[in-house]
Amino acid sequence: MTTVRSALAEATLYPFWLDNPLAPASEKHLVGRADADLVIVGGGFTGLWAAILAKQANPGRDVAIIEAGKVGHGASGRPGGIVSTSVMHGLSNANRIFPQDLAALERLGKVNLDGWSKTLDDHGIDADVEWSGEMTVAVGAGGLDELQEEFQLAQRYGHNVVLLNRDEVQAEVASPLFDGAMWSKERSGTVHPAKLAWGLKRVALSLGVRIYEHTPMTGVEDDGGTLTIVTHDGRIKAPRVLFATNAWNAGHKKIKTRIVSVRDRVLATEPLTAEQLSRLGWKNRQGIYDTRTQLNYMRLTRDNRIIFGGRVGYYFNNNTDPAGDRKIETYERLAGYFFNTFPQLADVKFTHAWSGPIDLTMRLAVHFQRYYGGKGLYAGGYSGFGVTTTRFGASIGLDILDGKTNPDLELDFARTLPNWIPPEPFRWIGAKTTMYALDEVDQKGGWRKLWINMVHKMGFPL
Ligand SMILES: Cc1cc2nc3c(=O)[nH]c(=O)nc-3n(C[C@H](O)[C@H](O)[C@H](O)COP(=O)(O)OP(=O)(O)OC[C@H]3O[C@@H](n4cnc5c(N)ncnc54)[C@H](O)[C@@H]3O)c2cc1C
Repeated sequence: MTTVRSALAEATLYPFWLDNPLAPASEKHLVGRADADLVIVGGGFTGLWAAILAKQANPGRDVAIIEAGKVGHGASGRPGGIVSTSVMHGLSNANRIFPQDLAALERLGKVNLDGWSKTLDDHGIDADVEWSGEMTVAVGAGGLDELQEEFQLAQRYGHNVVLLNRDEVQAEVASPLFDGAMWSKERSGTVHPAKLAWGLKRVALSLGVRIYEHTPMTGVEDDGGTLTIVTHDGRIKAPRVLFATNAWNAGHKKIKTRIVSVRDRVLATEPLTAEQLSRLGWKNRQGIYDTRTQLNYMRLTRDNRIIFGGRVGYYFNNNTDPAGDRKIETYERLAGYFFNTFPQLADVKFTHAWSGPIDLTMRLAVHFQRYYGGKGLYAGGYSGFGVTTTRFGASIGLDILDGKTNPDLELDFARTLPNWIPPEPFRWIGAKTTMYALDEVDQKGGWRKLWINMVHKMGFPL
């Protein structure tokens, strides 16, 4: 505990990614009445991609984004920043929820990632992308079984993957916890998420998108042919509205019946010295997830900090306000996981600690909710796996909103909804018990394991 407390003592309770002099100035907030062909509510990755894709498809379309705070200050400026190809939260999850459509979802994932990367190249967005691959590390025997299944699927669908035994994974990244790994070497790696959001904002503005920041939507009025988005100082009317509001699930009261808003916590270390790095290895700089029940993820930044995340919490009534996480004690358990994972870094300090909202669904994957006779659509539910999938969510969401037809839109992922989730107070009781059980299930088992198995059977694959 002494190591944890002293390592956190100087940490700033703010996302490392957003604490950067490159952050652009805010755009003006909306005052008075305005019109647009398409209004997007939410200036995270989903909203920014939707605006860019809409303009690229039709430069004459008048597109506006309404953002409650600043662009990229929601989940998009707070993630681990691990880049993946899957659009369904990984191949195993895709196989769990839509086994019949696996080939199509794999194709869509590859097309999406190539489009994501092409936009960054075409527009000179420097977001520190490293195509270093992603590695799932097994912690314990159960973890090794999980990896086998994922490895077979990945091979079947043509991914460039290798399976590493304990010695081989130790040679990649040294940790007493890592018993094996699957390293997927293509179309994956890491990105600086805030630089990405700021780059996408620049591109959207250059294409003529109007962005209103510090403009929370306070209401929606359905005028029959159009929707009016009401804000504190203005109103904006459009025939089509995309709600890209992630865990805030704003836009219609029913959105939250499919989504639980949880928070995930993240730490950033000071930049490691060459000597500290040599204690780890990590020469190939992969983005890493582990198989612990309370999943941890980790990656290096361009200046060799470790970003280490993964400890979810739930607050009553889906509260997304990160003010609840501005106490340093909130991060002590996560810091403890860090030192269990990398005991050779006992001399390393944390510079930043923060949390971010996650839109958890029973599918763990993006879905689309249609409202207001088809004039409004919510796209979200990425469940902590949206750094690249948000482009896909935006693209499919726009197609549905615009009434397009094509065989991909007939697939279940685009047509159907994830399971209903009970309201409060049952949601709070269930979530709190689950979080409590999750914290120590791997060490203590017992009732915790039974509870987690039951939640799993209800549809949440924890
Ligand atoms: C801690 C953490 C770690 C993660 N790690 C990874 C990772 O390593 N890899 C990965 O692929 N994914 C990761 N994710 C998930 C990924 O960050 C998200 O899926 C993605 O950023 C979601 O983008 P979004 O645009 O849908 O939501 P957001 O970025 O949250 O944007 C939604 C926006 O809507 C705005 N808004 C809400 N209500 C209103 C309103 N009433 N009026 C106007 N605006 C409103 C908010 O202010 C916000 O800016 C992580 C997420 C978190 C929180």
